[in-house]
Amino acid sequence: MSEAVTAAAPRLVLATHNKGKLRELRELLRGQVPGLDVDTQVIDAAAAGAPDVAETGVTFAENSLLKARAVAEATGLVAIADDSGLAVDVLGGAPGIFSARWSGRHGDDAANLQLLLAQLSDVPDAHRGAAFVCAAALAVPDAVGGDGREVVEYGQLEGTLLREPRGGGGFGYDPVLQPQGLDRSCAELSSEEKNAISHRGKAFRALLPAIVDALR
Ligand code: IMP
Repeated sequence: MSEAVTAAAPRLVLATHNKGKLRELRELLRGQVPGLDVDTQVIDAAAAGAPDVAETGVTFAENSLLKARAVAEATGLVAIADDSGLAVDVLGGAPGIFSARWSGRHGDDAANLQLLLAQLSDVPDAHRGAAFVCAAALAVPDAVGGDGREVVEYGQLEGTLLREPRGGGGFGYDPVLQPQGLDRSCAELSSEEKNAISHRGKAFRALLPAIVDALR
């Protein structure tokens, strides 16, 4: 009879239901924390049985912290969360935290993007600067000796807004943001190319020392 394999207990929860974000985080952490099996010990909110958290904050940092804190409290595990969106220069940073529901319907990517393009139709190329922005938060619960420690880090992907969507990859506003120095939209990049320069990748990489410290 083969020996039963006991999965090591989870140690880190990512407060998201997005499997793509979980995959990205696992790759970032692979080999970084001695003894951490990223494939079994880094899990998402659903696997942790953590509740959905309402994003009632008014900044990316507040929302990421709300989510990380609530999931850390609910699970007793180190938790991380991110909140992100598109900040357009001539709109004073909007849609910002309203990016996912800019057209009024949460998560309607096509409607959000079309509304934004219509709003900016008269704006000349020189003034079409915008950035994807991400705040990534870590919350360490008392249960793992964290004394309520919290850390927030940021990342940005700066670029220019195109006049028409381009490319079939990505999600959200990817087809209309062309990163600085590139001649393709984010929806024309491979996921590896996008992850290497993305706001989320930068924020999670900036949070890495705090994650490593919390799991030591
Ligand atoms: P969330 O923080 O993942 O919930 O993202 C909020 C919203 O911001 C998304 O629904 C998208 O509209 C937009 N957004 C955030 N990150 C990206 C990105 O990498 N590409 C395109 N849109 C994004």
